[in-house]
Amino acid sequence: MAALSTTIVTRPAYGFHEGGGGGCGGDCKSPPKYSKIFAKYQDHPGKDGQSCADCIFFIRTRADGQMDHCHLVSGEIGPHGWCRLFVRQQPAQCYGNRC
Ligand code: SF4
Repeated sequence: MAALSTTIVTRPAYGFHEGGGGGCGGDCKSPPKYSKIFAKYQDHPGKDGQSCADCIFFIRTRADGQMDHCHLVSGEIGPHGWCRLFVRQQPAQCYGNRC
């Protein structure tokens, strides 16, 4: 019986900025992120006013709100920026008449 080969692919092997091919570039403490170019990041809001501050992947790290970070895209991210990976945060759910 032939041995089974198992390969777990969690992200595509393109678009990463560090080390190429999905490598971590020597810093393997955190998972690789997509490059701004791959994500088509821009420093202004996208269609319908979508912006990083409203995205589930946004990480607010600075109290002054100038530049922050993202779980998916590398580098500093502005709260008014946007990329094609945007996913809007959902408002708190209401159950019955209790909101
Ligand atoms: S995924 Fe894109 S839109 Fe969302 S916070 Fe990151 S850079 Fe901004």
